[in-house]
Amino acid sequence: MIEVFDAGAARRALFRRALPCPDCGAPLKPWGHVRERAVRGRGGALEAFRPDRGRCTGCGTTHVILEASLLPGRAYAAGLIGQALAAAAGGHGHRRIAGDLGVPGGTVRGWIRRARRSAEQLRVIGVRAVVALDPEALPVRVLADPLACALDALGAAAVAMGRRLGLDEVGMWARIVVLTRGRLLRLAPDS
Ligand SMILES: [Zn+2]
Repeated sequence: MIEVFDAGAARRALFRRALPCPDCGAPLKPWGHVRERAVRGRGGALEAFRPDRGRCTGCGTTHVILEASLLPGRAYAAGLIGQALAAAAGGHGHRRIAGDLGVPGGTVRGWIRRARRSAEQLRVIGVRAVVALDPEALPVRVLADPLACALDALGAAAVAMGRRLGLDEVGMWARIVVLTRGRLLRLAPDS
């Protein structure tokens, strides 16, 4: 799976054989689509997506090309999931967050559990990205809540990334999705 900021540009690159395989660097060739999926965004609106798929001309792996507003296998947009995680890091319980966002409570609880289980890994990804992009921007405050710490580091990384790449038009959560390579909720093993 590849997370991209601009699915249209990625599709054009794919057809020009200019999109590299994230595993081996060889060019991908177009390999159809995955089936259309509807994703609920902030404000509750449903939007349909039909992600492209590419197959590596080197190692033969197929990759789904997903735009950064989406997380693999989730029926909700990354921005909405991120809003829920930020609220949880701010001390709100899942029931209240679920009510505020109009999402079932069990779904929100699942997101928060998964993010909390991998809070340390997420924090490390954020810190490493900041060090690589702009060491001056490293967060210096220490937050008691591990999830808050992780989101603080990822937020600093997203800002540094935006500055480096000129991503003014790209939302913070889309940047975080690319930084975490779509694994925001997938770092911890299923249990
Ligand atoms: Zn490859």
